[in-house]
Amino acid sequence: ESNSNLIRATLFPGDGIGPEIAESVRQIFKVSEVPIEWEEHYVGTEIDPRTNSFLTWESLESVRRNKVGLKGPMATPIGKGHRSLNLTLRKELNLYANVRPCYSLPGYKTRYDDVNLVTIRENTEGEYSGLEHQVVRGVVESLKIITRHASLRVAEYAFHYAKTHGRERVSAIHKANIMQKTDGLFLKCCREVAEKYPEIKYEEVVIDNCCMMLVKNPALFDVLVMPNLYGDIISDLCAGLIGGLGLTPSCNIGEGGIALAEAVHGSAPDIAGKNLANPTALLLSSVTMLRHLELHDKADRIQDAILKTIAEGKYRTGDLGGTATTTEFTNAICDHL
Ligand code: NAD
Repeated sequence: ESNSNLIRATLFPGDGIGPEIAESVRQIFKVSEVPIEWEEHYVGTEIDPRTNSFLTWESLESVRRNKVGLKGPMATPIGKGHRSLNLTLRKELNLYANVRPCYSLPGYKTRYDDVNLVTIRENTEGEYSGLEHQVVRGVVESLKIITRHASLRVAEYAFHYAKTHGRERVSAIHKANIMQKTDGLFLKCCREVAEKYPEIKYEEVVIDNCCMMLVKNPALFDVLVMPNLYGDIISDLCAGLIGGLGLTPSCNIGEGGIALAEAVHGSAPDIAGKNLANPTALLLSSVTMLRHLELHDKADRIQDAILKTIAEGKYRTGDLGGTATTTEFTNAICDHL
């Protein structure tokens, strides 16, 4: 029986370490009394002809209906004749923006201790449009597609995000001096949207200069919005600034207000089933999901408890140089709640 006061959300525990770290989220949400009821879906064991992938039609319908979900890592089965799971999700749910908050974790030492930025990557076009062909022998061509529709959509989301998350500045990252038409259109769209948000500062930064600034002084940045390829690279660069993919949350925004949060890392088959995985990235992803639902109190409490546990250093998983199991780390977070 479902309780009508609860928000329904789709949960894909995923593969490898996925079920272990998803269990950590479930436990912490329970202890924090988060008003969410999970609808669990696993990746199928055979191709569903309705999605032409191992993802079931029912699981996609669940996300479309609930409009909010959390996804563990998925290992795309090797073999021909089906689409990659992540690609299927992106296409079927029209996940057009990938949002990655990136902030220094207090007590976990990296080269920087003042990172606090968010990258917002256009996720549907650009160089990743899949339009490549051979013109003649020895000459190939790849089409970089930039549309006004997709650029306005991601720019709009970036400014909306900045406004609703107390951010002050949006930087559009580009190479419009060389890619005059494509990146030029992207910038034009960003400028148009910026005009609707006079309270948010807007600037444009050339991608190469952006890279240099990020490694010299990442505190210079707040919200960054960019086309697909730049976003792919810069978002991983930023994850590296704070200690790697095991710590970085992300959230995918889709048409019609869908938010599908996911950890950035993979299914870690080398440590799967051993109670060694670090659930931090998935937990922080679940926090971005709570913020999307405007459950800020719950999000703050859970985030604080995670950061405190890491800062204390008593219970850390192997990837952070500790010896704690997933369960011990999760229990320590619960104690802080
Ligand atoms: P991976 O991220 O799974 O693993 C890389 C290394 O990081 C491994 O040594 C692993 O043990 C470690 N690691 C990753 N996450 C960790 C965590 N939470 N705690 C502790 N250690 C962690 O990358 P891979 O080995 O290249 O990929 C494995 C599988 O995952 C592949 O099938 C790939 O397709 C899939 N994958 C899925 C996603 C996704 O669903 N978003 C992303 C990347 C890779």
